[in-house]
Amino acid sequence: MDDIRAIAFDVNGTLVEIRTDEHDDAMFRAAGHFLIYQGIDLRRHEVKDLYFRFLDEQRHAGEEEHPEFDAVAIWRRIVTEHATDFTRALPAEKLAQMPLFLAESCRGISRRRLRLYPWVREVLDVLRARFPLALVTDAQSAYARGELHKVGLLEYFDPIVVSGDHGFRKPDRRLFRIALDGLGGAAEHTLYVGNDIHRDVFGAREAGMRTALFTSDQGTKEYQDCVPDLVFDDHRELLSALGLPRPPDPVRPDAASADTDGSSTAAPPVRSRGPVVT
Ligand SMILES: [Mg+2]
Repeated sequence: MDDIRAIAFDVNGTLVEIRTDEHDDAMFRAAGHFLIYQGIDLRRHEVKDLYFRFLDEQRHAGEEEHPEFDAVAIWRRIVTEHATDFTRALPAEKLAQMPLFLAESCRGISRRRLRLYPWVREVLDVLRARFPLALVTDAQSAYARGELHKVGLLEYFDPIVVSGDHGFRKPDRRLFRIALDGLGGAAEHTLYVGNDIHRDVFGAREAGMRTALFTSDQGTKEYQDCVPDLVFDDHRELLSALGLPRPPDPVRPDAASADTDGSSTAAPPVRSRGPVVT
């Protein structure tokens, strides 16, 4: 891979280990209780039914082969269609922000885990000194930027292409093309790194890119005759494949104490990981 000049990444399941429960009743209970204070009286199951009905309608409304939903638009529709005189008398600024607030809150309530995979930061620190880096993620902007900021990755990438902003998702090759346009390089000299053989590897290959598959426990790993240029289970293998030196292995506690008087107090963390949020 010595002809690679730019790299684009998937986010969830590739750089960031994230777990959410998008059917969590607690999420719809909280949303329903919040809406009470806006003059909208909906039970938990009614909020949930409306959310998934509007989601389904969004996905079937257009002509896209791989449609992406818009969570903020779903909440806006729920608020608008159930608004009362009490709701309409609320400050306009509050009403305008309410759908985004609901989307963010529900994402937060449904989230069980958010952290970097091992070695991601160390590897990205090496890569960003040598390559322009981009993201192509199937996500909602309402969540994606806040989650990238939380794990400290927001500043590593330009452009950040979020499917929810476009109405279609991977493997639609147009998302990859937007990233390529932003990176400014030729597709055949750009590597795309993802965890799903269909959405990531097939999609990027259709856009003419080289591909690498991270074998995390998320995402499908087989699709037709699709074969990535690289398969890896440790992000440091990306550096090896690109002919770059790997970051040094962490100093083990017994190795650290060997240079001292035998005490074992100088034990750094074995691996640098992102924050765990539960
Ligand atoms: Mg992914």
